[in-house]
Amino acid sequence: MTMEKKICLLPGDGIGPEILAEGVRVLRAAAEKAGHSFSFEEALIGGAAIDATGSPLPAETVAKCKASDAVFLAAVGGPKWDGLDPKIRPERGLLGIRKELGLFANLRPALMLPELAGACLLRPEVAAKGLDLIVVRELTGDIYFGEPRAIEMRNGLRTGYNTMIYNEEEIRRIARVAFETARQRRKRVCSVEKSNVLETSRLWKQVVIEVHDADYADIELSHLYVDNAAMQLVRDPSQFDVILTGNIFGDILSDEASVITGSLGMLPSASMGADGPGLFEPIHGSAPDIAGQDKANPLATILSAAMLLRLGLHMPDEADMIEKAVRKTLQDGYRTGDIMEPGKTLVGCREMGCRVEERL
Ligand code: NAD
Repeated sequence: MTMEKKICLLPGDGIGPEILAEGVRVLRAAAEKAGHSFSFEEALIGGAAIDATGSPLPAETVAKCKASDAVFLAAVGGPKWDGLDPKIRPERGLLGIRKELGLFANLRPALMLPELAGACLLRPEVAAKGLDLIVVRELTGDIYFGEPRAIEMRNGLRTGYNTMIYNEEEIRRIARVAFETARQRRKRVCSVEKSNVLETSRLWKQVVIEVHDADYADIELSHLYVDNAAMQLVRDPSQFDVILTGNIFGDILSDEASVITGSLGMLPSASMGADGPGLFEPIHGSAPDIAGQDKANPLATILSAAMLLRLGLHMPDEADMIEKAVRKTLQDGYRTGDIMEPGKTLVGCREMGCRVEERL
């Protein structure tokens, strides 16, 4: 069935415009092949938006994102804006758009492709067991947003405090995302918390079990304390399918899970809300050290385009098509500098995008 979809593009800073151009190249090609009609509209975010308007997230950008079916973002930030007041730094644009779109679920797959097993940071016998998991992290609650929070004087000492807080509805909705995600994968969810010491985590565990028992008995549910989960991730990541966790634990575990694959330039992510457009972006930053040199790896962005199709536009076949084209490009030996190995063909950002497009 032919579908018309509107995609809002946020190129941002540094390598952002280069990698997003390749993501769009591949999206256009996939749409054409499948007979869909995608329209693209660009908007400003991050440092580029500060330079043009004074704000890292202009109101016009928010409006364009809300009017779209999906938002495709590259990266924001760079040394040029590091000296600014934290309230108007480029990263504020990112936090702001997540909030505006009500994106409470962050999905980060960590997948080690056999073609890139050499980059994996784990011992070969551990890497050989494979790594194909997804971290489902709650994004809008927890200790990052809990009140009260402050640094103040107590008994003559400077004292800082934050509040770790979740209500049952916040836990329920992220648990559902994890169980639904597992249904499309290997049907296993591991919920990660610290219920041996934290009340917030005790409630987390109770509610996750309630949601599971009520609606997802077909999914295998297990529980781990976060310290053990961090250890298991490096000891034997092959045991995980979907990891469900809160904001702060997810922040740390999703970085750990992705870095062990060894290829920052390969990893996509999705952030979803209850309704409205989702936001799709590579997990890496704006890589100012290689910006404008056609050296960046666009594959994380291209794989984010696949997530956009699968989760944002409900086009799983088209998403599969892109993922297969990426695998084929790697099998055929093309590599950007960050994943280069002896005997392979070194290509730039643009050529990598073209090679994937060819293989669609
Ligand atoms: P970074 O991810 O931008 O770069 C880390 C290292 O990885 C650099 O050496 C970079 O060259 C390399 N790298 C990253 N992406 C690559 C790619 N696609 N291809 C090849 N190499 C790649 O992280 P950083 O250096 O800590 O941060 C740079 C800027 O990005 C900062 O301003 C930071 O705030 C921002 N940042 C933004 C996001 C985001 O937009 N989501 C995330 C992280 C950092």
